[in-house]
Amino acid sequence: MAVDRARIEAAVAEIIAAIGEDVARPGLEATPRRVAESYAEFFAGLDVDPVDHLRDTIPVGPHTGELVLLRDIAFRSVCEHHLLPFLGTAHLAYLPDERVVGLGKLPAVVDTLATRPQLQERLTEEIAEALHTGLRPRGVLVVLDAVHGCVTARGPRQSASSTVTMASRGELSEPAARAEIMALIGAGR
Ligand SMILES: [Zn+2]
Repeated sequence: MAVDRARIEAAVAEIIAAIGEDVARPGLEATPRRVAESYAEFFAGLDVDPVDHLRDTIPVGPHTGELVLLRDIAFRSVCEHHLLPFLGTAHLAYLPDERVVGLGKLPAVVDTLATRPQLQERLTEEIAEALHTGLRPRGVLVVLDAVHGCVTARGPRQSASSTVTMASRGELSEPAARAEIMALIGAGR
């Protein structure tokens, strides 16, 4: 089911009225439509299976693959507790077994799972699970580093703080492997 834009527009007009503003004044009259368009974009991943991005794998033969690490994939999501954005970077590592996938497919997995109401912790786990399911690799490690609107712009107003989360599967759950990948993620900065 696609996002119901008309319903979002009506709800946003109601929010504007509820804060005591005039929804008909020039600066606000198009706001419900703009917010509805933004929400359609923010939640575009709700009906998409992230594993579909990993269908076209390339066979490499058993146990021939070395580590693949894609750093600094920019992502944007919306926290489901406050409906405020959180923005950051994802680093995806996997240890192939018999198949690899085009590198452009990995950001698509992140984007599909991020464009849903999310928690960073769950998003991290869901990315790891999608890679585990779609690639059947020997190991997966996912690291997300994000700044949350609900932390920086409200409540504690910790404008400089970011949140780092990790999820792993298989051989990349081992401490030595994790340490090696964390060093690679930080290398050259
Ligand atoms: Zn929040």
